[in-house]
Amino acid sequence: MDTPDVLVVGGGIGGLSTAYALSRLGLRVRVLEQAKEFGEVGAGIQLAPNCTRILDAYGLLETAKARGVVPDRMVMRDAVDGRDLTALDLRDLERRYGFPYLVIHRSDLHRLFLDACRDAGVELLTEQRIASYAADPATAVTDDGTTHTAPVVIAADGLHSVARKHFTDDQPVSSAYVAYRGTVPIAEVGRPVDLSEVVVYVGPRCHFVHYGLRGGDLLNQVAVFESPKAVAGLDDWGTPDELDTAFAATCDEVRAGIPRMWRDKWWRMYDRNQISTWVDGRLALLGDAAHPPLQYLAQGAIMAIEDGWVLAEHAKRLLGEDGTVDWDGALAAYEAVRPEHCRRVVLTARAWGNLWHLGGVEREQRNTLLRARATDDYSFTDWLYGPTALFPEDEPAMFEPVPLSTADELSATR
Ligand SMILES: Cc1cc2nc3c(=O)[nH]c(=O)nc-3n(C[C@H](O)[C@H](O)[C@H](O)COP(=O)(O)OP(=O)(O)OC[C@H]3O[C@@H](n4cnc5c(N)ncnc54)[C@H](O)[C@@H]3O)c2cc1C
Repeated sequence: MDTPDVLVVGGGIGGLSTAYALSRLGLRVRVLEQAKEFGEVGAGIQLAPNCTRILDAYGLLETAKARGVVPDRMVMRDAVDGRDLTALDLRDLERRYGFPYLVIHRSDLHRLFLDACRDAGVELLTEQRIASYAADPATAVTDDGTTHTAPVVIAADGLHSVARKHFTDDQPVSSAYVAYRGTVPIAEVGRPVDLSEVVVYVGPRCHFVHYGLRGGDLLNQVAVFESPKAVAGLDDWGTPDELDTAFAATCDEVRAGIPRMWRDKWWRMYDRNQISTWVDGRLALLGDAAHPPLQYLAQGAIMAIEDGWVLAEHAKRLLGEDGTVDWDGALAAYEAVRPEHCRRVVLTARAWGNLWHLGGVEREQRNTLLRARATDDYSFTDWLYGPTALFPEDEPAMFEPVPLSTADELSATR
């Protein structure tokens, strides 16, 4: 086999989007995927303007919009009483950030990148399970002993990354929460649902999300809850009986959705503590392998896509006339900017999830604060939805967190 310019391990959304970004520079890219076929499991995915901006740069945005739904509004409701808490006007948000908020089936997004890679001539190999790596020279070795080398290896091998072991012996951190997913043909939903909205119902130790997919043909639903069995330290956690119990005290709209969740598969929610070293020699981590988040900010796949875009932008900047890239420079620039951004997202996702899942007095305080928020207040999204930083000095300032206790002062003045 010829030696490619770049090896990408993992053919998920992170690996394929990166392979495509690098192939656009004229580089010869090989993707090594362990599965028999390229594909994605799961249902919908939300793509905020910091991602649709990149899809536009790749010339893929119009196809993504045609395959997905561009909603008008995102609304947060209390899962117990069903009342509105706060909302984002997604058309106004698009005007502010220049690009739309899009929801799409994850297999459609994956297929978009797979087709783009095929059209660009990316070498796509399946049944290549990488068991070990070396950084110098950059090498990935399959479990049957086949050795692949290239000037650079990008490991996008997901939450349970083998490549990450090269950097740390850490383990995924369990949140004790579990996600159920499901898509329902819209004609079979059996209750009125406004598909111009992305809706999240937040409740004590649970939440429920729904939005439309495929031009409104499908309703995507996600039900997430804290598993009592996980909290008790049992191995067999997140089972369907726990799903039903977790949502028993929620409002009618949420309870109506629960019987339509897929019950034969569920996703236990893990993230990892952040590491700031993602590069060793010519081996680099990318996507969930580097920074798996809890999903509450809906930024996991987006961060992976941003990683690939940032890496490719630096590779373009450092591309010589002979077609070779100064990879040491490009990888250093990548590692200078991405870990800090992703650290912020991973930590904020944990805090945002905690806020969603409050009960008792704290739930009331949260609701007071959310209801007081002006719809056109973008101070909580500017750090996330603006242009992806290429250099550390371009990373926007974080928002100021609002302490829950300020809700009491707010209530007293009303
Ligand atoms: C319930 C839920 C909802 C979510 N919602 C959103 C959302 O709305 N928006 C968003 O942006 N993100 C969301 N995410 C997060 C998002 O799904 C992930 O962050 C994203 O898919 C990570 O992509 P990845 O390519 O880095 O990893 P993965 O998708 O895990 O891909 C890794 C690939 O590497 C392959 N692989 C693994 N090991 C090896 C090996 N040893 N050798 C070769 N190949 C290997 C795997 O087979 C796989 O194809 C959500 C996650 C969950 C669980």
